[in-house]
Amino acid sequence: MIINSKTLVIGLIGHPLGHSLSPLMHNSALDKLGLNCLYLPFDVAPNDLGEAVAGLKALNMRGVNVTIPYKKAVIQYLDELSPEAQACGAVNLIKNDHGYLTGFNTDGRGFMASLREEGISSFKQVLIIGAGGAAHSLVYELTQSGAEQINILDIDHDKALELASFVNQLQKGKGTGAKMDDELFITLSQKADLIVNCTPVGMSPHNEGIPVTSLNKVHSEALVYDLIYNPLTTRFLAMAQERNLKTINGLSMLVHQGALTLEILTGVKPPVAFMKEVLLNSYSK
Ligand code: NAP
Repeated sequence: MIINSKTLVIGLIGHPLGHSLSPLMHNSALDKLGLNCLYLPFDVAPNDLGEAVAGLKALNMRGVNVTIPYKKAVIQYLDELSPEAQACGAVNLIKNDHGYLTGFNTDGRGFMASLREEGISSFKQVLIIGAGGAAHSLVYELTQSGAEQINILDIDHDKALELASFVNQLQKGKGTGAKMDDELFITLSQKADLIVNCTPVGMSPHNEGIPVTSLNKVHSEALVYDLIYNPLTTRFLAMAQERNLKTINGLSMLVHQGALTLEILTGVKPPVAFMKEVLLNSYSK
């Protein structure tokens, strides 16, 4: 592409940034779409967050994705929040409209889009492992999509209870939270039709990690989902596949939440299948 004074700049802010697939995925999509737009990563030191957000306006950047540890901290600098960002209290995307900053949270919508891609749109009984930021976005969307019961387990009992209380604020009586425990997981897993790993357990370079000891009691029609996208097949998913359960890894959600970023910032429908292909090719390199 030719960079000129009309080039729209989009970015990613976080700290430390480490290895991110977002620049590759977004720049490939922007190039394919023929847009005069660039996606750049910025490692922002904690004391500089306010200035970095002010810089978005000063430099007239179109927007930024926001990652760990700024998803909550960034809210104080924004003018408006989308309903899901407001409900979750976390932002992973800022859009800049000539100095007016709106925060979005595309994780939950990306998750639901990845399910729709598989022809699935709703669940009755959901079991969530890990009650952090990603789980918040997911349960927000799952309650909207008609889930009847959302059980949450976390190694931190308080976090599990807090997320269950969030579910119950959205839809009374639908959420339960408890401390992660192997026996309790096995009991709850028997009636679940969706089980999601929302912890980083099993993520590279700690591929040997697995958040549960057994999936033996999970019923044969259940879907087992891992938000982790590196590796593509975690030990958790491998255990589900040994039982011939349907599984989805985090790559599809990553692509769909990225596609939403581009759609919100540029107004153009992104090439989702192409973006996924680009990322899959990057794994084999
Ligand atoms: P987070 O905020 O740190 O939440 C993880 C939660 O899981 C924490 O509450 C943590 O407790 C808990 N936990 C850790 N080990 C556990 C275990 N063995 N059993 C039960 N709970 C446990 O992280 P996040 O931002 O939600 O991200 C979670 C995962 O989702 C990460 O792997 C991330 O890469 C992935 N993710 C993927 C996408 C995607 O597009 N595919 C998007 C967002 C996130 P402690 O805090 O006490 O450790």
